[in-house]
Amino acid sequence: MSAIDRGYAGDALDRAHRKLLDRIDDEMQMTSATTGRSALAPAVRRAMERVPRDAFVRKVDRPYAWRNRPLPIGHGQTISQPFIVAIMTELLDPGPEDVVLEIGTGCGYATAVLAEIVAHVYSVEFVRALADAARLRLAGLGYENVDVRQGDGNAGWAEHAPFDKISVTAAPPEIPPALVEQLAPGGRMVLPVGEHPGVQELLVVTKDADGAVRERGVLPVAFVPLVSA
Ligand code: SAH
Repeated sequence: MSAIDRGYAGDALDRAHRKLLDRIDDEMQMTSATTGRSALAPAVRRAMERVPRDAFVRKVDRPYAWRNRPLPIGHGQTISQPFIVAIMTELLDPGPEDVVLEIGTGCGYATAVLAEIVAHVYSVEFVRALADAARLRLAGLGYENVDVRQGDGNAGWAEHAPFDKISVTAAPPEIPPALVEQLAPGGRMVLPVGEHPGVQELLVVTKDADGAVRERGVLPVAFVPLVSA
C-alpha cells in the first residue's frame, strides 16, 4: 500500500513518522536511567521505521496514527503507545534467529515490529475478532513469519515452546508460571505486572543457562489487564 493509497501526501506522512521517531528517541533518553537503554538498537529502529502504524488503527484515527499515543481499536482495547512498543522490543534484545511468543496481539502492531526483526512470532489474543482481524492485516501487509491464534495467553503456546523471547502486552497481577516455563534457557521476557486500576511495573525477566530466573523492574506503565479465562 503506498502513502497515496492511504490518503496522504507522501511527504507529510514521512514527516509525521520522522517526528514520531524523534519523540521515541527523546523518551528513550528520559527513561534511560531505569531502562539502561538510551537509544534503540539499529534493528529495532529500522523496524519502527518500516511498520506503517496507520495500517493498524481505525480509519477515523489515521490522522493521529503518528502521534506517540495509544489509540482505541474497539472491544475496549488499544494499540499501544509507540514508545512502549519500541522500548519493550528493545528490552527483548531481539535477534534474527529468535522464535518469539507474544501475548496480546491486539491490532498486531507490535507483532509486526517483532516480525521485522526475528525468525518467527507466535502471538496469542484473547478476543477472537481481534485475533482474526490481526491475522488478516498482517498477512495483507506481507508478514509470513507470524502465527496468530485466539486463546488465553496465561497458558502460553506450549506446542511451539521453548521461546527465545516472550513479550506480554497486557498486565497480569503476577508473572504467569506457564510463561516462565516456556522461556528457553538464556531467554528473556518483557511484561507489565500489577493491579488494576493503577500503575503497573514493566519487568525484564531472564532465565540463565542453568534455568535460574531473575527479574528487574524498569519502568512504571499503564496496560490493560491480562484477563484470566
Ligand atoms: N500489542 C498490541 C497491544 C495490545 S493491547 C499493540 O501492538 O498495540 C492488549 C491485548 O491483550 C488486547 O487486545 C487484549 O484483548 C489482549 N488480552 C488480554 N488478556 C489476554 C489474555 N489472557 N490472553 C491473550 N490476550 C489477552
